[in-house]
Amino acid sequence: MSRAETLCEVCGARPARYVCRNCGARVCRYCIDLSTWMCVRCSEKFGPDFLPEVGDFMASEAMKLLIIGVVLTFVGFILMAVASLLVGGSAGGVVLIGPFPIIFGSGGALPALLLVLVLVVFVAMFLLPFLLTWLRGE
Ligand SMILES: [Zn+2]
Ligand SMILES: [Zn+2]
Repeated sequence: MSRAETLCEVCGARPARYVCRNCGARVCRYCIDLSTWMCVRCSEKFGPDFLPEVGDFMASEAMKLLIIGVVLTFVGFILMAVASLLVGGSAGGVVLIGPFPIIFGSGGALPALLLVLVLVVFVAMFLLPFLLTWLRGE
């Protein structure tokens, strides 16, 4: 009885179908962890939480979103500071209640315009991470 197929290097019982990305061992589908693409021997060595490259990629994506959020927050605060200066100390100011900025003033078009600007920035800040996630097709 000839054996054309290579047997799994871990269990030695079933035909090898996969190659461990860490040690290069040829293993069967029961002896590979498809979430890490490593044989069970390497999975045990590194632990179940070991996710090479994928984890780093997610971390960098999260970092990018964090930086975008910080920048947008900064822009929002600049807009609010400008609004406070333009409206004037006696006429009004900017109050932050939670994440929602509220501009109170003596009326007129300018405070309303600035209010819209600040709201747009804050809405963008909150929606952008979801939008980017959606655009990546997840
Ligand atoms: Zn096996
Ligand atoms: Zn391995």
